[in-house]
Amino acid sequence: QVTFATTTSTTAASEALFERARAVTPGGVNSPVRAFTAVGGTPRFITSASGAWLTDADGNDYVDLICSWGPMLLGHAHPDVQAAVAGAVARGTSYGTPTEPEVELAEEIVARTPVERVRFVSSGTEATMSAIRLARGATGRDLVVKFAGCYHGHVDPLLAEAGSGIATLAVPGTSGVPASSAAETLVLPYNDRDAVQAAFEAHGPRIACLITEAFPGNMGVVPPTPGFNAFLAETCRAHGALFISDEVMTGFRATDQGGWGLDGAIEGWAPDLMTFGKVMGGGFPAAAFGGRADLMAHLAPEGRVYQAGTLSGNPVATTAGLATLRLATPEVYAQLDATALTIRTAVAENLAAAGVPHVVQAAGTMFSVFFRDEAVRNFAEASTQDTAAYAAFFHSMLHQGVYLPPSAYEAWFVSAAHDERAVSTVLDALPAAALAAA
Ligand code: PLP
Repeated sequence: QVTFATTTSTTAASEALFERARAVTPGGVNSPVRAFTAVGGTPRFITSASGAWLTDADGNDYVDLICSWGPMLLGHAHPDVQAAVAGAVARGTSYGTPTEPEVELAEEIVARTPVERVRFVSSGTEATMSAIRLARGATGRDLVVKFAGCYHGHVDPLLAEAGSGIATLAVPGTSGVPASSAAETLVLPYNDRDAVQAAFEAHGPRIACLITEAFPGNMGVVPPTPGFNAFLAETCRAHGALFISDEVMTGFRATDQGGWGLDGAIEGWAPDLMTFGKVMGGGFPAAAFGGRADLMAHLAPEGRVYQAGTLSGNPVATTAGLATLRLATPEVYAQLDATALTIRTAVAENLAAAGVPHVVQAAGTMFSVFFRDEAVRNFAEASTQDTAAYAAFFHSMLHQGVYLPPSAYEAWFVSAAHDERAVSTVLDALPAAALAAA
């Protein structure tokens, strides 16, 4: 029996709120993985956040290793982002007309990534949905290739064998999706060149695009084997299909470009289309898709592929995103790398000391822990981890004031605000959590 050095006192207020929430909202949450279904217990209702810390309705403080599932690169309530947002709000919150912040944010994204044109939407789901429509419109083909365990939002054809909440809850991903839509998607095992080759040989002339996470983070973090992305780009090119790098999670996070920047710049591949979200919205609903100018010209009003949005390019969201990206300097990325390395090294050391089978996998500042003893290369392997051990580890950390993702299939995130106090809170909690998982 492990006794925790608990920092959490009561959770009565969160429990009462959860009960109220469940009476009016399915499962009490507005995104499934928040419900703690996989780990059990009551999700904490957060009332405020500052820097690396969350405070819940009972007044408990937690070091945040979710960071809103990626967006909070600079930490919560960064004063410069807050000031920019307050200024934007004071000028009105939505006009439904073009604005200068949209132009500035688009210029920033075009300057930092391979895309030549970018269009804003309000969620990563919309970004991948629109990129796929564009790929189909530009190629005149219907089939989409994706990898099992990669999550690209809750777009009908992309839910098949998806990661993130689909993996957490082990739901089929196709309930409510028309069979015709699912049939347009080919799902392949990640890191499997033979499967990719075979799919393109069998269906090449019908494949509009292949979509992948440049560094998958939605089945836990599973890096591509060396040369895998370059191989995908080349296979797409050889068959006249478009290569979409979904950087909603990795974009502007792992380096100043994201997953593409970590891999593409080194291995010499470039995507035809990219999708972004999370960090580029600075904590607001903003996302984007972009690519080569000739491809993006297929979009209305210039072209015939329709796509639109009432709040797309919202001035408050684009101002928050712009302030965040401008503060995300090489020094910030270096600091994030160092913080992530410190935490993941300590996690591995503590699990090893407790004799818990584990492997820690990382992509820049994103990382995750699999409770199994061999490296994970794809979703089938990720699915063999000991999720009960993760749940025990998670709850021990939570009781000691560290909020991890409530699922073994999610990446952990650090922010630039994770200072010495936050990091030492995490490190101090690890020995007991490792024993709890043993
Ligand atoms: N693509 C990737 C790689 C993601 O990680 C996510 C969300 O986690 C999405 C797309 C969907 O983004 P959103 O939740 O903003 O719709």
